[in-house]
Amino acid sequence: MVTSPATTSNVLVLVVEDEPAIATAIARRLSGEGWRVEMALDGHAGVAMASSLRPDVVVLDVMLPGLDGLEVCRRIQAERPVPVLMLTARDDETDMLIGLGVGADDYMTKPFSMRELVARTKALLRRQERATRAAEIDTGTTALPPLVVGDVAVDRAQRRVHRGSAEVHLTPTEFDLLVTLVSSPRTVLTRERLLAEVWDWVDASGTRTVDSHVKALRRKLGADLIRTVHGVGYAFEPSEPATDTQEAGRPASPGGTAT
Ligand code: CA
Repeated sequence: MVTSPATTSNVLVLVVEDEPAIATAIARRLSGEGWRVEMALDGHAGVAMASSLRPDVVVLDVMLPGLDGLEVCRRIQAERPVPVLMLTARDDETDMLIGLGVGADDYMTKPFSMRELVARTKALLRRQERATRAAEIDTGTTALPPLVVGDVAVDRAQRRVHRGSAEVHLTPTEFDLLVTLVSSPRTVLTRERLLAEVWDWVDASGTRTVDSHVKALRRKLGADLIRTVHGVGYAFEPSEPATDTQEAGRPASPGGTAT
């Protein structure tokens, strides 16, 4: 099930971790996948190396001396969007970070297994590759019709979201999660299915990633759109009645609308 990017040897992973033993162990394991791995041992070096090396994915420890992982993630993402896998100390710290909208794509709580680290890194690379391919296909055209449910409009070609007339800025992961939810409105999607479709995870036991990202979506889009089905999953259910599902066929008016 190794569906790694077409040219594995061209993949560059940047590991930002201040504990040399952990950084080295991670680097060694990821190198074993055939990827090039660079290490930064503090936050400032991490930001600088992300800028100069342009890695395909960043593994980023949240607890760093000086410039912490949150700020490192913000600065890296502000310069160039890149998938970030953040390493946290506790599950509630993960919640907190997602709530802050730091912009990481995935989170792993220490201690973690190297096997899982590799699986998650691969998933991020697959998603990135998929997004790149989709962007290439869609360049100049709107091959994918916009999804419009209630007052939420998702332009998959441009990867832009509006609620009413207001544009909502989402991270790549939040966007993919929203597309999955909006594509099946008023349908309960299990956490496992969301993890499989959005995160490309196979084994999804005991993760809070979905819950935390739903929380982030609610914060940005409004609390009324996504219903929690306790113990099961989530459903996209805009409160507005009628005329909701207008997928294809609707005259798309991207670009033309005043903002
Ligand atoms: Ca650390």
